[in-house]
Amino acid sequence: MPCSQKADAEFIQKSQEAGEQMKLIMENWRQYITKENNSASFVEFLKALESPQERPSGFKKSSLKGEKLGKLCCWCSQETLVGVEHIIPRSAGGPTIERWNLAWACYPCNHSRGSAIEIPPRPPEVLSGWLTRAFREFGEVPTPEELRNYFVEKLENK
Ligand SMILES: [Zn+2]
Repeated sequence: MPCSQKADAEFIQKSQEAGEQMKLIMENWRQYITKENNSASFVEFLKALESPQERPSGFKKSSLKGEKLGKLCCWCSQETLVGVEHIIPRSAGGPTIERWNLAWACYPCNHSRGSAIEIPPRPPEVLSGWLTRAFREFGEVPTPEELRNYFVEKLENK
């Protein structure tokens, strides 16, 4: 009967639409999970970093001001005038005074890196610092957006 055939056709179409929608939801969820894990594992990686160099001690904001001589840049390994480097930039949600997020960097490295989370865009032959090597080992780093989401969620769950 035409009437029941029409109902069947409608039912099939609605089922297909629901199926497509479910696929979309699952895909979004998968991407969300992957991103969360990426941000979280990146933060865990930074916290576990062993540094052969002295790192800023953090805790007191006043200890983070000014530049220092006689320390090696974490990116290029040059012994030069260095300042505090936030490994996860503050603009990406990185903590300001927590020691695991701090390193020493020279001005050319710090300045060229700006608010990126990547290794500074300098000639590869100058980039031999301990943090450069660590980043190369870690591989893909999260985007600022993913990190901000990670930190926002952390704070909200506290
Ligand atoms: Zn440097």
